[in-house]
Amino acid sequence: MATKQLELHQSVVKFLSNAPKKMLINGQFVQSVSGKTFETINPATGEVITKVYEADKEDIEKAVKAARVAFEGPWKKVPPNQRQMLLLKLADLIEKNAEELAQLETLDNGKPIRESRAVDVPVTADHFRYYAGWATKIHGETIPVSCGNFLTYTLREPVGVVGQIIPWNFPLLMAAWKIAAAVACGNCVVLKPAEQTPLTALRLGELIMEAGFPAGVINICPGFGETAGAALSGHMDVDKVAFTGEYITGRKIIQASAGNLKRVSLELGGKAPNIVFVDGDMEAAVKGCIGSVFFNQGQVCCAGTRLFVENKIYDEFISKVSDRAGKLTLGPGLCEETQMGPLVSSDQLKRVTGYLETGKKEGAKPVCGGDRATDGDLQKGYFVKPTVFANVNNKMKIAQEEIFGPVVSAIPFKDIEDVITQGNDTTYGLSAGIWTKDIKKAHAVAKAIKAGTVWINCYNVFDSAAPFGGYKQSGFGREGGIHALELYTQIKAVWVNLD
Ligand code: ADP
Repeated sequence: MATKQLELHQSVVKFLSNAPKKMLINGQFVQSVSGKTFETINPATGEVITKVYEADKEDIEKAVKAARVAFEGPWKKVPPNQRQMLLLKLADLIEKNAEELAQLETLDNGKPIRESRAVDVPVTADHFRYYAGWATKIHGETIPVSCGNFLTYTLREPVGVVGQIIPWNFPLLMAAWKIAAAVACGNCVVLKPAEQTPLTALRLGELIMEAGFPAGVINICPGFGETAGAALSGHMDVDKVAFTGEYITGRKIIQASAGNLKRVSLELGGKAPNIVFVDGDMEAAVKGCIGSVFFNQGQVCCAGTRLFVENKIYDEFISKVSDRAGKLTLGPGLCEETQMGPLVSSDQLKRVTGYLETGKKEGAKPVCGGDRATDGDLQKGYFVKPTVFANVNNKMKIAQEEIFGPVVSAIPFKDIEDVITQGNDTTYGLSAGIWTKDIKKAHAVAKAIKAGTVWINCYNVFDSAAPFGGYKQSGFGREGGIHALELYTQIKAVWVNLD
């Protein structure tokens, strides 16, 4: 167990001292119209970090209006290379303030500081840089039509005002995934961070203004889902909504979007099969399995939560995984040596421990962990032991429902057909992992699995240039790479009569 915590960077202390934290609307940090605030909690201790002004319908109204004015006016006049420069400048500022952002992320979300430093913050900067590159490369085409003497060309234009609703598992990185592509394409944005983790998005808002983005181009309004989120997804002057979160919320977003038929893209949950064949590199697969389910406390939609292991090596493999899982250092995220921090909230703790009980009742056997961690100071926070369930079959609730915690369910399989059938026997289709040295088998399984991302002999590898998104009830639309440009642009065909 890790105990010695970092002393907070003075810039974090300064950021927190100025409270309640205000939201960003039209280039200004402002209070909520109602004056209402909410508390954001440190999940390692259960203590209040600070208060944040709570966006409601009226604030969303103001933010959408500001975004519309910016979109129809000043932002349209900013040429692509200036958009590029602004995004590059923002990336530089993120890097310049990396330690502050990493500490703030860990404080608010609970994740180990080593992950915030190595993943969340640098990948955020990279994402803004990657889409900065696209800002000057978005264009239409000329089309050789056969119906007469016409010059026919297309314009690829921004969609307009975009509402973006993000979850709490990667608060800063998800903000980047949403904002970077939208703004590179010339849209204006209203972002609603998750109520559990509003702080890094608000600090990002300060950096956005420091970078020099015109007022109203990016607005950041923390608030609750049923109020601010619903107001944004139902707003008649929002042209598109992009959402990452639970599939149940995704359905509500689709319903809310019907009023003005706004475009929708959804990245929802997952229940990924991580498949280990007898001919796989066992050490690499064990390591990959640990990373796939315990990274970010398992609060990752593409986590490899269904671990399929070929019968012949099932017992040996499970024993290696649980040995290693049992050795992970649990502690507050702000301890340098922490490998697994707390879950994000008391609600999440309730949900995950509920599933642990369900698993035991269903007959699954926890060979590692299986309950809450309460040693010493851990009892104050929302800690759950890394858990490996053996004796699981794919029909059990713990194998079908998204737990979103540090829990892996190990399921035996007979052969390639069996694992393809079981792997696809889920309503989700976000990702999958395959461990084998047989190249034919690897490609055959990759093709047969219904998922938006398949990792072969690796897991949880990401790059700003690669697409990410779901099959089936894991959603639709692809973020990342060239594919996100489809989400944030629309095409106009122009016909010129040359006769
Ligand atoms: P979780 O249960 O993991 O918090 P959610 O899907 O509820 O996942 O939350 C993801 C994001 O969706 C958060 O920003 C949340 O505030 C928002 N949200 C929740 N309910 C709604 C809703 N009815 N309409 C719009 N956004 C919502």
